[in-house]
Amino acid sequence: MYTNAAIKNSDDHATPSAGGAVPHIARSVSALRAAFDAGRSRSLSWRMTQLDGLARMLEVEEGPILDALREDLGKPRLEGWAAEVSDAAAGIRFVKKNIKKWMKPRRVATGIAALPGKSQIFQEPLGVVLIIAPWNYPFSLCINPLVGALAAGNCALIKPSEIAPATSALIARLLPLYVDAQCVTVIEGGVPETTELLAQRFDHIFYTGNGTVGRVVMQAAAQHLTPVTLELGGKSPCIIDEHVDLEVAVKRIAWAKFYNCGQTCVAPDYVLVHQNVHQRFMSLLAQTIREFWGQDPQSSQDFGRIVNARHHRRLMALLPGSGEIFVGGKHDESACYIAPTVLTKVPEHAPIMQDEIFGPILPVLPVASLEHAIGFANARPKPLALYLFSSRDESFQQVVARTSSGGMVVNHAMLHLTVAGLPFGGVGPSGMGAYHGKHSFDTFSHSKAVLKKPTMLDATIMYPPYTASKERWMRRLM
Ligand code: NAD
Repeated sequence: MYTNAAIKNSDDHATPSAGGAVPHIARSVSALRAAFDAGRSRSLSWRMTQLDGLARMLEVEEGPILDALREDLGKPRLEGWAAEVSDAAAGIRFVKKNIKKWMKPRRVATGIAALPGKSQIFQEPLGVVLIIAPWNYPFSLCINPLVGALAAGNCALIKPSEIAPATSALIARLLPLYVDAQCVTVIEGGVPETTELLAQRFDHIFYTGNGTVGRVVMQAAAQHLTPVTLELGGKSPCIIDEHVDLEVAVKRIAWAKFYNCGQTCVAPDYVLVHQNVHQRFMSLLAQTIREFWGQDPQSSQDFGRIVNARHHRRLMALLPGSGEIFVGGKHDESACYIAPTVLTKVPEHAPIMQDEIFGPILPVLPVASLEHAIGFANARPKPLALYLFSSRDESFQQVVARTSSGGMVVNHAMLHLTVAGLPFGGVGPSGMGAYHGKHSFDTFSHSKAVLKKPTMLDATIMYPPYTASKERWMRRLM
């Protein structure tokens, strides 16, 4: 994760209501709790209605959603549609198809100590959950967790990111029109509002963002022993083996790295390329960037913008001492623009190699062998994703067994999060817990252990007084 300048520089996060408690927040949480306690959100039909409402919202409001994303991040329409609208719609369809099955109690074997009896796992909603979202995919990172929360029968409070104000305002306006407003509330705002929210008791907190605030969230959650899911970031390495289809690899890496202007939690953060293919990799990358965004990416409709001037300055400050610019480097703070930039001759301890970059700058480091690449990745905190480009299964076997990351993709990047069956989440400093598909349903449910016993056949040998003969029988039976 990058160091949270949001905390150091509160400008971005200041809101008109800053400076003290925010009274409507406690009232909103109480209202949600009253709705949950009344059982409003539990039935299958209620859950289906909410999912249908969200699906309808995505269909009807696609235009305004894409406009808001363009306003906040200069997001190209296709990127906005694919990553924030279509992906959420696919997630809803998957959940709707399976929810009935997931809600059913699951029978498990009853051991001899509890026989006769019937053992089942019931999935129950947690209650009132808090979802805190970041600015980089400001729409889908509110809606995707919400799908899981509603499918599991919870009431939810959403706190969109104030750093994407157009999307935040749109979510606040739209959600009450499409889902049950007694069970879903949106609170807009920055640090003061989120601080006040975190002082309330929730039954689960689902936070997506940087690790510094992740720690704040976890500390606040500890006051109420509230469980948390932390979807964080990290420096996701991209390893290129010497045995590789380099042309395809380069296209996929360029697409993934510069998607959303590099502001993606699972973007390849840096490349470790085998020295034998390093030079060819660099020239193919330069050529691909030209093919994708032309000679002047600033005039391309298909290249996004840095979210704000503060992040622009943060990124530009990483360049001195971080090697040489091989491609790109042009920038314009007033337009929040940084060209797709590739760095070469990057010192291992350069500023760009410290924290998650989260922008369109790609350091490329040659390595002598796969072994060196594995060692390099393992010497750093566990990342959210790790990418390997190789045509050898042996290389895959080595990397998958000897590295640890939230997820891994071979011969592509980022696409694992579109697979509904795969859990999406980090490990260690890149996060805890996971979601997507059934994993979302499980994250927002409690698996309640239920044993049902008849009253006939009462096993008196377990009751005092504990005699020698009772003990003999028990030792024989159990
Ligand atoms: P952000 O600045 O929008 O912050 C995230 C949320 O935390 C916002 O809602 C904000 O209001 C709140 N917040 C900020 N400071 C706070 C404070 N002091 N106390 C309480 N709440 C506070 O977004 P960000 O953190 O800059 O997001 C980028 C980071 O998120 C990157 O590290 C990225 O890798 C990570 N990320 C992870 C995922 C994932 O799914 N794992 C997805 C997207 C982004």
